[in-house]
Amino acid sequence: MTVTDTTTRFLFEDTHIRGELTQIARPFQEVLSKHNYPRPIQPLLGQFMAAAAMLSDTIKFEGILSLQVKGNGQVRTLMAECRNNQALRAIAQYNDDFEDSGPLLGEGHLAITIDPDKGQRYQGIVLINDDDIDLASALEGYFQQSEQIKTRVWLYADHNAAAGMMLQAMPKSASESSLDLQEDEDWERLNFLAETLKPEEALNLDSETVLHRLFHEETVRVYPARELRFECTCSEQRSANAIMTLGQQEALEIAHEQGHIEIDCQFCRARYAFSLQQVEELFSPKPEDSIN
Ligand SMILES: [Zn+2]
Repeated sequence: MTVTDTTTRFLFEDTHIRGELTQIARPFQEVLSKHNYPRPIQPLLGQFMAAAAMLSDTIKFEGILSLQVKGNGQVRTLMAECRNNQALRAIAQYNDDFEDSGPLLGEGHLAITIDPDKGQRYQGIVLINDDDIDLASALEGYFQQSEQIKTRVWLYADHNAAAGMMLQAMPKSASESSLDLQEDEDWERLNFLAETLKPEEALNLDSETVLHRLFHEETVRVYPARELRFECTCSEQRSANAIMTLGQQEALEIAHEQGHIEIDCQFCRARYAFSLQQVEELFSPKPEDSIN
């Protein structure tokens, strides 16, 4: 029984309450392997990754969901994104003089961005006033305030794995925003059961075992799990586009000065090098552009 890099949606029959359980080990370890992050930052990155995957599967859309926090603390920015409910990447930027004992994020804001392949980009912002973010509470507050959806979120992480669980009470229809008595009772009972999940269980047991342990007395419909993996969206083409946005004059100046232009991906540490000749070619008209 180990964590299996998946996110699983579930529904309690005869209620309007649904849930999501997300567990990641390898995608998280891969993110940690790319950078030498100070230890206190590592679990926070894991929580962000688990939360991004969990929300992405809950919202159901094709595109990128990202969670990004910017603060005035030692960690300047921390972000995790999940593409098409499967591909995860994450990054943290922190001060050079990082101290293990100091507060991580300070005060700032958390942005939840949904960038669908088709349609409009959406962004929700939650202010963070405490020294350090409690991501689970911030997300609960976001759903309550912006979406009027009763939501509980639990997030767990150590230096190897991360997990998240979420319960949501869906309003029966758009006109009914509050739950009736029976629904209130269901909500209280399921939350009580969910609360009994221990961090070491969330981070070590497979999803089937976790759900059985918590809800074996309930009738739960469990949907097929979606696999999660680490994947970066950088590419040769995207790097070429980045050079193009510099403009011909500036790009050629840099290429002449350095002999080439190098684009480094901060997420996965991939390097894309363009020789002076390649940079010149980027700005010269391509054969298919000419009119015959
Ligand atoms: Zn990359």
